[in-house]
Amino acid sequence: MPETLHIPPGINYECTGCGTCCSGWAVHMTAEDHTRIASVDWGALHAPFKGKVLFKELQKYEKMISPYTHKIRSDDGTCPFLVNKLCFMHSTNGAEFKPSICQLFPYCFTDTPTGTYATVSFVSVGAVYNSGKALAEQRDYLEKKLADFRAVFPGYKPDWSKIQLTAGHPLTWDDYLKHEEVLLSILSSDEGNVIDKLRRCSDYLVERVNQVTAPANKPAADEGAMGLNKLDRHILANFHRMYFPAKGRKINEKGLNTFKFWFGVIFNTSTVFEVPQQFYAIDQLREFPFPNDKEVDDIFTRYAYSHVFGKKYFGPGFGGLTVISGFHHLVTVIMLARLHARAIAKARNAPIVSLLDVLATVRMLETQLGETMFSQGSTNTVEVLLQSGKRAKRFLSIG
Ligand code: SF4
Repeated sequence: MPETLHIPPGINYECTGCGTCCSGWAVHMTAEDHTRIASVDWGALHAPFKGKVLFKELQKYEKMISPYTHKIRSDDGTCPFLVNKLCFMHSTNGAEFKPSICQLFPYCFTDTPTGTYATVSFVSVGAVYNSGKALAEQRDYLEKKLADFRAVFPGYKPDWSKIQLTAGHPLTWDDYLKHEEVLLSILSSDEGNVIDKLRRCSDYLVERVNQVTAPANKPAADEGAMGLNKLDRHILANFHRMYFPAKGRKINEKGLNTFKFWFGVIFNTSTVFEVPQQFYAIDQLREFPFPNDKEVDDIFTRYAYSHVFGKKYFGPGFGGLTVISGFHHLVTVIMLARLHARAIAKARNAPIVSLLDVLATVRMLETQLGETMFSQGSTNTVEVLLQSGKRAKRFLSIG
């Protein structure tokens, strides 16, 4: 029986040919990719490749958590095979010669008990701008990409049997889908901006949690937003250091992105946001003008919609979090992205955040989220800190 492939409405993609997607992330290769690609004498085809080391074997721990064995070596963060904004491998040997990750990019697939859910990665410029044809009109192509995905990830089988609405309250898959339907209908409605929609989604989930938990455990949704408190600021600053590292990636030898929240609180480390060469307090950034623009609002709304549709925000889809804390983590990273876009605009003395600041920020966030694996300790910490509806409201009040 053919498998069910679910395709998100309202999400488009077509390569814009800008070449931007070939920078800012490590291009990994499977053993087959490496054998095929490294067997070519690239120096004979393109003089600048002569004498250059183009490939690098991954560390042992990197091999343990992925199907990849090597990566393309880059001196400046841009893939060296990008020549005059075109992929040199593609132009000399065809699309199917490229590393499998480039052939799959930017399509993502999530297997669930009710079929496979397709989405696109927001590392792609075309995905951020929603350019090209609707995914719903590309079903045949997506099915071919899904077959490619299966070939690269033969053992991929996320376990959705232990999902929880909140800690200690398991959820059946069918019940989860009912909640997801509500979230997706709020996110795709024409009413309000992304902040209103995220607030309504949070309220909906908090109400569901309140129905199943004892009074003492109820996360309050009904109180209005107040100013950020000290803990909020530590949480935001810690996540900012993790997802927008000013000095490169901080993933450790186990492939984990560790959330060192308690360290920051106990030792009272700084709550400022660092971007290259600059430090800003959160309040300084909140005051910086952010465009009240439909195009920017659509990017963040689609970002949220795509992560919910793809189930990339909770359980095996992200960090082992429960639905409520996973959704609030999504709220947190979207609000962080809005602060980070302000920080990079401010650092270059711009009067207001531009679309390019938003593009760079969303691509960076998506790259980091894609490489994040929480330790059990980090999952537990994030779980506790982000279950509160009140905290989510305070984060949303950043604007
Ligand atoms: S191999 Fe080609 S498609 Fe892949 S990142 Fe490099 S230039 Fe881009």
